[in-house]
Order: sequence, then structure tokens, then C-alpha cells
Amino acid sequence: MEKNYHMTPGQFREEGKKLIDWIADYYEQVENYPVLSTVQPGDIRKQLPPQAPEKGEPFDAMMSDVNKLIMPGITHWQSPNFFAYFQSNTSGPSILGELLSAGLGVQGMLWATSPACTELESQVMDWLVDMMGLPAHFKTTASGGGVIQDTASNAALAALLAARERKTNFSSNLTGESSRLVAYVSTQTHSSVEKGIKVMGIGTNRLRKIEVDEHFAMRPEALENQLKKDMKNGFIPFFVCGTVGTTSSNAVDPLREIGEICKKYDVWFHVDAAMSGTAAVCPEFRSHFDGLQLADSYAFNPHKWMFTNFDCDCFYVADKAILIKTLSILPEYLKNEATEKGAVIDYRDWHVQLGRRFRALKLWFVIRHYGAEGLRYHIGEHIRLARELASWIKTSADFELLNEPPFNLVCFRHKASDEFNKKLMDRLNKSGRIYLTHTVLNGTFWLRMSIGQTQTKQEHVARAWELIREMAKQ
Ligand SMILES: *Cc1c(COP(=O)(O)O)cnc(C)c1O
Repeated sequence: MEKNYHMTPGQFREEGKKLIDWIADYYEQVENYPVLSTVQPGDIRKQLPPQAPEKGEPFDAMMSDVNKLIMPGITHWQSPNFFAYFQSNTSGPSILGELLSAGLGVQGMLWATSPACTELESQVMDWLVDMMGLPAHFKTTASGGGVIQDTASNAALAALLAARERKTNFSSNLTGESSRLVAYVSTQTHSSVEKGIKVMGIGTNRLRKIEVDEHFAMRPEALENQLKKDMKNGFIPFFVCGTVGTTSSNAVDPLREIGEICKKYDVWFHVDAAMSGTAAVCPEFRSHFDGLQLADSYAFNPHKWMFTNFDCDCFYVADKAILIKTLSILPEYLKNEATEKGAVIDYRDWHVQLGRRFRALKLWFVIRHYGAEGLRYHIGEHIRLARELASWIKTSADFELLNEPPFNLVCFRHKASDEFNKKLMDRLNKSGRIYLTHTVLNGTFWLRMSIGQTQTKQEHVARAWELIREMAKQ
């Protein structure tokens, strides 16, 4: 008889239903786990067999090991008491969209390899332009267009490459020559831009880190001075990154002023709003995005704050022809009629890698489940909770607030020493009841609380604040 080791559709149906139940149970009980995993390095691995199994095992055995071996090594990002780093939230519709994407298992590298994968993505990306008040020329139906990338880091890399090619009249792709190019970020810009500079071989000594003001926003006059100085010295400025919501403190760079400088000197202007960009669903926070019309590219992460599980970064360009010309490659084995006629989008030309998942499904499910109204409500609530926490901190005798939070990140510290704050943070995190992280700004240690997990409510923030004050007293 022919052998068959595959899971049958019947087994899949049965195990799949149990797994959905398992996930639903997990969400109901997530607050019972210590938020930060308490295992030591190597603890998980040493419990795993040294060799892969020779004989296949039943699915039950795997799930039993998930419970026993894997769960202790999980840090519970989806706990409403998770306030560390940045929010990285998900939701039911997103998880189901991800499952469906895996179920269909399509490769969306070309329009022809699954037309729905491309067309749904273009449509959802265009929807977001209207929903979030983004510049209309970002739409695929206009000069620009949007694409879902895996991460904001790779979106920045795509922007850097397109910027280089625009500046060198597409000669750098041909010759590799880029020796006089310089790029500009602020001291607070996310490290992914510096990594992109490394990856593309520009050399980090040609990345200028512009100083920031007292709110940690880039100083436009310092940018212009540096641009002029570099040009005088024979360098060629090609790329500036502005940020809406820096990772460290949620600072907002003055996009309009930076954008105008970029136009004046013909430099590509990329805006990174990976962490805070979702705030634009609420019209009342759009003033922070003033000047985005001047951007050549823009990225924000639904996988941080829009209830869409990792990975899902939305990347827009003002002129898609430049991006496509930069990254387009057409080997014989990918040639097809639809591409040749130029009637379709082939998203493999919009990022570094070839293969791509059907990520638009989960974003589509999320937007349709919540509606624009639901997203506005929950994002608005997160920001309201952050402001409320900030008001409690301001009225406390022992703690100080860094600044009024523009979005949902609250930076604060106990008025005692850095050492005290560090110890306080470690004790809070070891308690398992909440998880928060820190940053250092101007040499001072600050605690950070990012309020944006899907289930985080007033009671969680209030309890966290109570716990922080209690532990500080001890
Ligand atoms: C988190 C973050 C990034 C990196 O995001 P990835 O999608 O993980 O690459 C970039 N920029 C900012 C401002 C961020 O907060």
C-alpha cells in the first residue's frame, strides 16, 4: 500500500478546533501568567530532545509539550499588564486572518501568482489612506502606492535604496558607485535606518545624527546647516528620516520644516511612524502628521498598534515608479503576460525579498471587524489612559513626568537616583504582575510605559500605578 504520513483533513479539522479553543482559553487566562518569563538562559532548550524524532508523533503530544515546555518560556506580550518596549497587539480577526493566509498558502510575489493577494492589498492600503487622512497621492490609483512589508526596518531599507537611485539617476544600481552619498537622521531615530545604511554599503560614517531640541525632536536648522556643510565638502545628501513617535520617548519631528528643507535640496524624505502611526485613525491626533504631504515615503506598523499580529508594516511612496525601477528584476522564469502588458502590480518589485505572504487578509479582517469607528475608539482610549497616567504622575510627590505624552507612551521616573529607578523596575518586572522597560535620555534613566495592548483597560493602568508607588515605598 502507498504510504501517507500527512495529516488528513479530518484530523486537521479536529485538532484545529481544539487549537482554536486553546487560544481562546489562553486569552481568558493570560493575566494568570507572570508577564515576563522567569526562565534562565538554556532552561527551555535543555528540556528538548537532542535529536529530531524518527517516528511521527500525535498532535496531542505536541500540545502537551507546548503547555509543559514552551509556555514557561513565553513573555506575555498579549497580557493587558504588558507595558514594555512598544505595544505589539493582536486580535481575534487578525489571528483568524493569519490562519486563513496559512491555509491558502499562496505566494503573492506576482499578480499572476494569486491575483486576489495583490488586489486586496492595494485596495486595503488605499482604504487606509482615506481612513487615516494620509496624502492622497500615496494611493496606488494616483502616482504613489502602498505595499505591506514585513517590518519598518525593511521599509526603511527600500526607501534608502530608492532614494539612492533617484539621487544617482539610477546609476548606483549599475555601477555600485555611492561613495559621496550622505544620509541624515536625528539622535533619536530608530536604529533600523543605521542598519539599512550598513546593509546598503554606504558606511555609517556617512550617516549624520542631527541634534534634537528639549522635546527630543530634530532641529531643522541643525539639519540645514549640516546639509550645507556636507555639500560644501563635496558630499551628496540623498536621504533624511523624520519620525512621528520616536521609540525612546515618542518625540515628533517637525515634518513640515524638515520636508521643506528636503525639497529645497532635493533629498528623499522618509517618515517613520512605526510605533505611533496608527494614531492617525483619530482626526484629533493628525496635527502631529502635518507636513507628511512632503514625504517621499512613509511607514507605520499595524503590527504594533492596529490589532494586527506581527508581521505587518504599511509602506507608502509618493512616486511608485522610482521604487519599482530601483528594485525591479525580471528573470526568465518569472515572465508572464500580465506583467509584460504592464496592467498589474507585481509587489515583488516593491521590497527586497521575492516571496511574500498574503498579509492583507489579516489587515482586511481587522479593519472590517472593528470598522474605522472601532479603531478610533480603542486607539483614543489608549491615548486617554496614557494621559490619565501622566496626570497621576504629575500630582505625585515622588515621581516626575518627562513630558506630556503626545500618544500612548508615558516616560517618568522616581525623583531618587537612576540606581533606585533601575532597582524599582527590576523588582516590578520580577513580580510578574506588570512588565515595563526603560530608556536613557540626556544621561538620565527613565521608566517607560507603553499603553496599547488589546485588552489593557483603565483598571490595569490604575493597578500598575498603585503597584509602582507601593514598591517604590518599600
Ligand atoms: C519599532 C520601530 C521600528 C522598527 O520596527 P520593525 O517593524 O520591527 O522593523 C522602526 N522605527 C520606529 C520608530 C519604531 O518604533
